[in-house]
Amino acid sequence: MRKANKLDIEKVLKKVKHYLTENDLDDISAAWDFCLKVHSGQKRKSGEDFAFHPLKVAYKLALWEMDKTTIIAGILHDVLEDTKTRESDIALRFGTEVANIVKGVTKVSDIKMAGNKHEQQIESLRRMILVMAKDLRVVFVRLADRLHNMSTLYALRKEKQLENSIETLEIYAPLADRLGMGQVKAELEDLSFPFAYPTDYRDLVTKSKKMYEMAVKNMAEIENNLKKGLAQEGFEAIINIRRKHLYSLWKKLKRPEIDNDLGKIFDLVAARIITQTKEDCYKALGVVHKIYRHNALIGVSDYIAQPKPNGYQSIHTKVHGPDGRIIEIQIRTKEMHDEAEHGLSAHWRYSHAKSHGANENMLNSGVFLGQKKYAWVQELVNWQGVLKNPGDFINAVKLDAFHERIFVFSPKGDAFDLPTGSTPVDFAYAVHTKLGNYIKLAKVNNKIVPLSYVLKSGDIVEIIKSKEPRLPNPDWLDFTHTTSARTEIKKLTKKV
Ligand code: MN
Repeated sequence: MRKANKLDIEKVLKKVKHYLTENDLDDISAAWDFCLKVHSGQKRKSGEDFAFHPLKVAYKLALWEMDKTTIIAGILHDVLEDTKTRESDIALRFGTEVANIVKGVTKVSDIKMAGNKHEQQIESLRRMILVMAKDLRVVFVRLADRLHNMSTLYALRKEKQLENSIETLEIYAPLADRLGMGQVKAELEDLSFPFAYPTDYRDLVTKSKKMYEMAVKNMAEIENNLKKGLAQEGFEAIINIRRKHLYSLWKKLKRPEIDNDLGKIFDLVAARIITQTKEDCYKALGVVHKIYRHNALIGVSDYIAQPKPNGYQSIHTKVHGPDGRIIEIQIRTKEMHDEAEHGLSAHWRYSHAKSHGANENMLNSGVFLGQKKYAWVQELVNWQGVLKNPGDFINAVKLDAFHERIFVFSPKGDAFDLPTGSTPVDFAYAVHTKLGNYIKLAKVNNKIVPLSYVLKSGDIVEIIKSKEPRLPNPDWLDFTHTTSARTEIKKLTKKV
């Protein structure tokens, strides 16, 4: 038996045991043995054995309850870049799926652009979306990789610290946000903050220390009272107290209406009541207001009845706490909570549960409903109803949904998501109706193309405008795909 030490895969295996098979565990162990062998003798800048890093990455992926393939790819994610291993070796031993994910992760980490910072960021984001469109699991591995790298950032040179922390704030945190992984986003931001803005970070820590301490003390009393109050109503609910993440506090303080005034922050520490059902959320709200007087002026925000544009659901109420200070209490169901914290990875958990015959309603409980920017995830949820086999679901997660869509970019780097087969005319109308009515010429990746040119994901599309507005050509109806373009073309050409 292998001696238990820091370099031990047991911890990962323990985490995945409840949802993977014995065979899966054997495969993961085999990948780990391979990893130890090829990375042997290598050290990280922090002084640890190199293999400690992929182990941490795999552990994170296990916490997110990723499938076997993703976990193995996590274990092997650095072997192409840092060892003599070839892609074909990985494919032969662990299958082409693992090899493709590892290749994807390597490709993304390779992204180094010439030009200014802004252009670099756009380019990186663009490539990231492209890689993601092939297999979302690449992004999960990359996020787990980034999380661990950020936690050992202290070991790097100062310039590297700054570069990586800014990159994390500008690319990886927003990416996690887009995938609904709020917890990962917050972690990435808080790991970056001290390195990206050291002076502001130190100032904020000093400035907020007393307030945090007071708020925490206050909250302990509130938690107690809420527990009693809820118990009296015969409630089953979890109360958890959370500190606002420093980086999000810093951002909030910069808002004009807050104007750097800590006194205007009511959610420095907030209590969350996590209920079983939606109805219980409203009952819990009643209990809260019975104990603490709610502030009629700032009142209650019901994001359950009216979810935020990103799909966030919760009830927030601001009440006068024990010492009269205003505090925020958030109420949500377990599913809403999971969705807010873990996003797509929570979805994985539900899909596993479902494939094991658990509650069908979980998927239809509104977790992913009403989220426009998340439409592709919704698509997967719908598919899940049809796909009974977990293997099919994994294929769906590879974003086959994306095969119906392409991503193209304006010269400024704004991303547009269009149906497959779209042309520069569709693009123009997607940007703005007005642009559609000024089309003179189109350039794709800096070359002039016919207006019927079929765009591919990743293309940079530029519309050269005419001086005067022009009527669209009715022939454009032969090659346009978007409703917005077609409606406009029909409307304007009818007039002739
Ligand atoms: Mn790595």
